[in-house]
Amino acid sequence: MNRERILRQIRDAGVVGQGGAGFPAHVKFAAPVETVIANGCECEPLLFSDQVLMQRHAEEIVEALEAVMAAVGARRGIIAIKEKYRTAGERFERLLGGKPIELARLENFYPAGDEHVLVHELLGRAIPPLGLPKDVGAVVSNVGTLHAVHRAMAGLPVTHRLVTVTGEVRRPAVLEVPIGTPVEECIAACGGPAVADPVLVLGGPMMGRFVDGPEAMRREVVTKTTGGVLLLPRGHYLHRMATLSVREMEKQAAAACIQCRYCTDLCPRHNIGHSFETHRVMRAFGGGVATAPGTLQAFLCSECGVCELFACPMRLSPRRINALFKARFRERQIAYEGPREVVPAQSLLNRHRKIPVSRLAIKLDIQKYLAIHPAEGERLSPAQVTIPLQQHAGAPAVACVRPGERVEEGAAIGEIPEGKLGARVHASIAGEVIRVDNAVTIRRG
Ligand code: SF4
Ligand code: SF4
Repeated sequence: MNRERILRQIRDAGVVGQGGAGFPAHVKFAAPVETVIANGCECEPLLFSDQVLMQRHAEEIVEALEAVMAAVGARRGIIAIKEKYRTAGERFERLLGGKPIELARLENFYPAGDEHVLVHELLGRAIPPLGLPKDVGAVVSNVGTLHAVHRAMAGLPVTHRLVTVTGEVRRPAVLEVPIGTPVEECIAACGGPAVADPVLVLGGPMMGRFVDGPEAMRREVVTKTTGGVLLLPRGHYLHRMATLSVREMEKQAAAACIQCRYCTDLCPRHNIGHSFETHRVMRAFGGGVATAPGTLQAFLCSECGVCELFACPMRLSPRRINALFKARFRERQIAYEGPREVVPAQSLLNRHRKIPVSRLAIKLDIQKYLAIHPAEGERLSPAQVTIPLQQHAGAPAVACVRPGERVEEGAAIGEIPEGKLGARVHASIAGEVIRVDNAVTIRRG
């Protein structure tokens, strides 16, 4: 496989990291590394999108992994899944004979799919604070991204994705959805809400984004990085935690933080050896400190939610407070200047501190949803899609269509701005472009 050719195909198809921030894949795969890791761990409880994808498309994922390995010059490939994914595991096992690719089966803990944690588990090496897997000779790619790479090699762009619709819906399912489909249509395809006035979480219960109110919900659409649509009853524990005001968090930190340091002791980043002690940030915040040098370590927080939703006995909000500090620092153009070395002794000591998803579910009050196994649902055909021009890290795509134009499914509708980091965007249905602003709206027909 010619390296330049495959990177061009991935770029042209608009492939981005589907498991996280949507980093453009043609840039991620441009650096040479020794190991490529296919991440099929889907560590957020309640999500099944990657599991279904691996059951349906194991062969394509392996082929794409081989192509990426050739492109980056890697001699070793690893497919990481949870050991409980038996069907996907059997499929991969049958396909891997004689290939330089291993199958790694991980226990069901959170956050197994975080790339820092995953690299540490598989390679025994910690990526430095604020570093990337390539710093330790690896690249990590979500299995959905690899499936998109396989399509890209056949000249097919990213137009659809699998989405788990679960929680308080009548018929939870994993749907195949055109990018830009209104989230409300996904919920309706699953029988609608099972409770009155629910709140929406886009993503999983740990790191998902809360959307509150019918108007806000109506505006949401499925993007390349939307893996889950979760409905919860209003006032659910997770909803209450997500909607605490800064003033409330401040008062609670001052009055109730007992400096027990459980938030630090269970922090996955601390436990792979990063010099990050979130209880110290809490102490500063509770003391009313706005931006003391010690709080700079908030930059090292991945916002995984372990501290606030699992560890803290006082139900405080270290994750949100770290996020608040990070936003303040960025506003004031303050950069992280702390240690970038890994503390190996710290990671050796703490490497067994993992959080079983079953225990996590009890804390999150989601056991009833954890018992649901969403059905493999239909492929949706919405009458209209609204495709955001910014679904990825970097600059928004620049629209290359106008209202009134007709487009076919798969046609480019947004281009990468000259000289910028970004990703192309494509029409997910055929029809007429009816609006272009920060998104392109297409009516089927
Ligand atoms: S776990 Fe909670 S109470 Fe303990 S130090 Fe951290 S924030 Fe404070
Ligand atoms: S959210 Fe909490 S547990 Fe997760 S990385 Fe940040 S401080 Fe650590």
